[in-house]
Amino acid sequence: MLESSYRLRPSVIGRGQFLRFQMAEFEEYPVAYQDRTLICRDCSAEFIFTAGEQDFYAQKGFEHEPTRCAACRQSRKRDRGSQTGERTMYDAVCTQCGAATQVPFSPRPDKPVYCPDCYRTVAGRRARV
Ligand SMILES: [Zn+2]
Ligand SMILES: [Zn+2]
Repeated sequence: MLESSYRLRPSVIGRGQFLRFQMAEFEEYPVAYQDRTLICRDCSAEFIFTAGEQDFYAQKGFEHEPTRCAACRQSRKRDRGSQTGERTMYDAVCTQCGAATQVPFSPRPDKPVYCPDCYRTVAGRRARV
């Protein structure tokens, strides 16, 4: 069979003209972009890395393909924006004295949270030990 001598096997076989045309195209553009389905590393949702985007990435010289879906990319952009300004503060209750306070991290039930006054006391006590 002639077929086996072709390196690339187009889906349509048996029409000489069309075959040659496809072969020529493949040789001219060695990278044929196709829509690809990727998994978002943040929310695990599937998203499409379109042929157009792949072409754009290649033109820009980006070596890495996107790892996050459009929604997560957007929210990350927003997060970065807010971090340059004020830090996000979380409401918490001081483990020591029960006063309402704010901490720059998400309070966890298994970790003690201290108001600034108690923190100084606790930290001071630790330092002396
Ligand atoms: Zn996502
Ligand atoms: Zn306190």
